[in-house]
Amino acid sequence: MKRAPTHKHAKDQRVQRSNIRRAQAAGKSRARAQLQQVAAASAADAPEHETAAVFPRAARRWFIGLTLVIALAGVAIIALQNAPRWLSAAMQSQATADAALLEATRNAAVATQDATRIGIVSGHRGHDSGAVCDDGLTEASLNFVHATRVAEVLRAEGYIVDVLDEFDPRLRGYRARVLLSIHADSCARINDLATGFKVARAVHSRAPDEADRLVACLTARYRAHTGLRFHTNTVTRDMTQYHAFDEVAPETPAAIIETGFMYLDRPLLEGRPEVVAQGIVEGLLCFLRSEAS
Ligand SMILES: [Zn+2]
Repeated sequence: MKRAPTHKHAKDQRVQRSNIRRAQAAGKSRARAQLQQVAAASAADAPEHETAAVFPRAARRWFIGLTLVIALAGVAIIALQNAPRWLSAAMQSQATADAALLEATRNAAVATQDATRIGIVSGHRGHDSGAVCDDGLTEASLNFVHATRVAEVLRAEGYIVDVLDEFDPRLRGYRARVLLSIHADSCARINDLATGFKVARAVHSRAPDEADRLVACLTARYRAHTGLRFHTNTVTRDMTQYHAFDEVAPETPAAIIETGFMYLDRPLLEGRPEVVAQGIVEGLLCFLRSEAS
């Protein structure tokens, strides 16, 4: 009988311990739940609690929005104020580039033209008659026949040819590969020696080697083609100090030719102008093509 109370006692003790554990577990879970509630509540309130004293949330949003608006407005004002200047600077630099390109193109075109341009002065034209024969034939009219014929032939060779008056305004600073003035000598019955042609360049030529080569080419080819002799002794100051030599651009080689005497050489000058012109053309081409005279 002794075992029964013992057994009952042991059982009571187990039940009691089990109750205590349940109570402890329940207590723990309640405490945990309370802790979680507190934690959740404080988590939700925390941000407001931390900054509320300095900046309420709504005010902060307003502040950020206002700052953005002010910054954007500032950028817009600066852009509007400077736009005309930026635009004009951009347009100006474009205009400068365009002008430089135009200038370069024009210079290249002028240089190309100068390289193929030939000036022919039709002696006395637009100024006076020059020498005059008894029957009224004028040097100016003979010169013009020769000058226009020379120009025609050279144009057919691909050159740009200007036929210029004696005091043509274009002579000032004239730029060309070569300039030749065509004249003829007196129609007076001087003597049997008043026959032949002459070629001269400026006495103070600014391109003496080129001018010498031009004179040599014209002399050799004109003599060969016309059969006239070179009339050395009558190269005058009118020829070597010819006015156009001082007018043309310094780099333009220039010369003057007296194609013959109008009295004794008239059959050639008036009767066979194409021979006169061809003699001149061959002299110029000799110079232009750098041929040996
Ligand atoms: Zn003359």
